[in-house]
Amino acid sequence: MQLQNTSLLQNRSFINGEWVDASNAETFEVINPANGDIITSVADSGAVETEQAIAAASKAFPAWSKKTAKERGAIMKKWFNLINENIEDLALLMTTEQGKPLAEAKGEITYGASFIEWFAEEARRVYGDVIPTPANDRRIITIKQPIGVVAAITPWNFPVSMITRKISPAIAAGCTVVLKPAAQTPLSALALAYLAKEAGFPAGVINIVTSSNAAEIGKVMTESPLVQKFSFTGSTKVGKMLMQQCASTVKKVSLELGGNAPLIVFDDADVEQAVKGAMASKYRNAGQTCVCANRLYVQEGIYDGFLEKYREAVASLNVGNGTDAGVEIGPLIDVEAIEKIKRLLGDAVDKGATVTVGGNEHSAGKLFYEPTVVEGCNSKMAVSKEEVFGPVSPIFKFSTEEEAIALANDTEYGLASYFFTQNLARAWRVAEALDYGIIGINEGIVSTAEAPFGGMKESGIGREGSKYGIEEYLEIKYLCLGGL
Ligand code: ADP
Repeated sequence: MQLQNTSLLQNRSFINGEWVDASNAETFEVINPANGDIITSVADSGAVETEQAIAAASKAFPAWSKKTAKERGAIMKKWFNLINENIEDLALLMTTEQGKPLAEAKGEITYGASFIEWFAEEARRVYGDVIPTPANDRRIITIKQPIGVVAAITPWNFPVSMITRKISPAIAAGCTVVLKPAAQTPLSALALAYLAKEAGFPAGVINIVTSSNAAEIGKVMTESPLVQKFSFTGSTKVGKMLMQQCASTVKKVSLELGGNAPLIVFDDADVEQAVKGAMASKYRNAGQTCVCANRLYVQEGIYDGFLEKYREAVASLNVGNGTDAGVEIGPLIDVEAIEKIKRLLGDAVDKGATVTVGGNEHSAGKLFYEPTVVEGCNSKMAVSKEEVFGPVSPIFKFSTEEEAIALANDTEYGLASYFFTQNLARAWRVAEALDYGIIGINEGIVSTAEAPFGGMKESGIGREGSKYGIEEYLEIKYLCLGGL
């Protein structure tokens, strides 16, 4: 990996504005999933460093929160500019530790940076209210104030944007942050911290603790009385546990958890549009996103027309090392991801499904899997209930709109869903009937800083991005002005 700006490669935690080794000098390796190479070793911090980071964030909070929104925004905009100036290096760093193709890495960095810009501006619009009084001798006013120290834990599938989606609204609101990135992808997080330091954030406003011992860090973060807010993106299983831990200090929580996104193609869809949307939704990041289409429901009348084109599109995807030109599908994150795909496909085939494209490990390397289409799926198969998190499209055939809605909603998850139709009345009807926080209508990629991202049911609590995203980091205070 040849970076132009070699300072972006950092390998220690970033606490109180300093680069810090683990107190016991332990480190853990960061591996390139495309070829198994060790990229570098990173400080394996623990409870002690997490407590130091929380103390630093707590100390930095009064001064940071008292800056005006415009002052905070000015530093954030410097950070935003520095990220864009270093996009080539940041993309290479991301592809090397995470695997996604370079073009996707750049797309993620642009998207991730857009949250910094958006919230730098949004902070100036944190309005309170003056509420009409029920008594003439008093007035009712509300103000919004930053909640305090924020602790956050992020996953490996979006090593930059999952971080900026949490840090940006928090620091814009006036909070300070301690964040633990996923152990698979700490380098992107540390590069962001390096650029934050360059941008001029005061010490302690942003702290990054790298660790291979997530449970130890998570416990300190969720139980510390100095932390007022906890934000997590990851699996539903871990999210539930952390939410429980947060109960000990009644923290405000935001959770972005798993999904099981349905994608419905109705008979009245535009086939080309549906194929394009389904490909984009399913195969981004090799299928490793929580909003990737997980179940494709295709109506009888359009089935043959859609599948003919879809199979062709999936079969033509270019698999390889994400740093090679033209690659569309990189490696999966680890061996467990490959094992999960094999288990889910095996179960589907045992219960009567047919693999019509792919279905094998790919010759590009240990962590590569062929883009796959498996048809004839039904609700008895594990693939209808679990997130595949890989380049596999399970296809389900259906006959009526009611049936499709019932099948789509038959899950404990409620993050993203998609459907394709040219019928306006159906579009409105189905959008209202789907129990999901995000609905793509004739569109497979919907995330943007301007829109609220988040799930219903067991997919989470709270929203990231948009005017709603900053509310997660604010308290509403009611002032009663009496004696008038
Ligand atoms: P994924 O399948 O995306 O790896 P996880 O929920 O396991 O989902 O991981 C998401 C984030 O949560 C990562 O940063 C991981 O290190 C962290 N994590 C995993 N287990 C725990 C835990 N017990 N306590 C706190 N954080 C955890």
